[in-house]
Amino acid sequence: MQTLVHYSLHFLAIGLIAYLYDSKNWKRNWLILLATMAVDLDHLLADPIFHPGRCSIGFHYLHSFYVIPFYFVGAAFLKRSIWKLILIGLAFHMFTDFVDCLWMFGECGECEIPEFFSYFSR
Ligand SMILES: [Zn+2]
Repeated sequence: MQTLVHYSLHFLAIGLIAYLYDSKNWKRNWLILLATMAVDLDHLLADPIFHPGRCSIGFHYLHSFYVIPFYFVGAAFLKRSIWKLILIGLAFHMFTDFVDCLWMFGECGECEIPEFFSYFSR
């Protein structure tokens, strides 16, 4: 269920973003935003590759707290361009992953909640 919500959010919401960004080229924009999902390829560098109780945020390289601010700053301040759209896609991706993590930690009885997230789930 959670996985389903996660991926339909990814696919549908980015369609909406693509449309709002530029309604004339929304199909092209959607493809670009779909391509930003490749950021999850950093999971392949992790060991184990898939772990159901793990939160991507703060764990994988492209999901780390050092990189995420750049996505948001770029999305907000870059001039209108393909890069801005890509960064919007990445920032949105981090947002959905973040919601996912909150959801996961909200349900976990015994798993360890990182400090950063316990602040949000209070
Ligand atoms: Zn992700």
